[in-house]
Amino acid sequence: MKTIEKPRLIFATNNKHKFEEIRHVIGERVELMRLADIGFNGEIPEKQETLDGNAAQKAFFIYNLYGIDCFADDTGLEIEALQGEPGTYSARYAGENCNFEDNMNKVLQKMKGVTDRKARFRTVIALVEKGSLRLFKGEIRGVITTEKLGLAGFGYDPIFMPDGFGETFAEMSLAQKNRISHRALAIQELLRYFTPNPEKS
Ligand code: IMP
Repeated sequence: MKTIEKPRLIFATNNKHKFEEIRHVIGERVELMRLADIGFNGEIPEKQETLDGNAAQKAFFIYNLYGIDCFADDTGLEIEALQGEPGTYSARYAGENCNFEDNMNKVLQKMKGVTDRKARFRTVIALVEKGSLRLFKGEIRGVITTEKLGLAGFGYDPIFMPDGFGETFAEMSLAQKNRISHRALAIQELLRYFTPNPEKS
């Protein structure tokens, strides 16, 4: 059984949106540190072919530099009609130095006239604790809309509508996205690992 001592973890990301989402879900249950808190402001490599591999590479990179327990996430949007694209290439789908708009435009272009619009977001969180790796996963299914809707969130949020909802992620509040999202589900798994009975902590 794990103890319910409050864990101290670095979240190895340079993405402010991800940090806010995860901090919102975690609340006070973990002492969460930014890379800036440990004086890191460089790039973290992610050169693997899978979400599991990339998440692990990012977490080990920071753990090996600082020796502090840490976790990293890797997320991909997988579109059925595009054989799982953009997948692990989600960040740079439209090429090096592309932005979120370029990536969404590429998806919308490729999906023009396509009726099967099923897609899913998958997140893998890699935790490196005292040098050992554990993976936590979350996924949400939905559809790719035919146009961008909403201004909140980041990445592909304006073109992803989760199943059972009439709004894209970008039309939802952070609280609503965090109740259902791929990343929130993965982080809840991580929290269950640290506090198996959160109501008692
Ligand atoms: P990363 O490699 O985990 O940083 O994610 C790759 C890309 O997926 C990001 O650059 C975003 O474009 C996209 N992405 C990740 N998470 C989300 C999300 O929650 N909503 C929309 N897009 C996301």
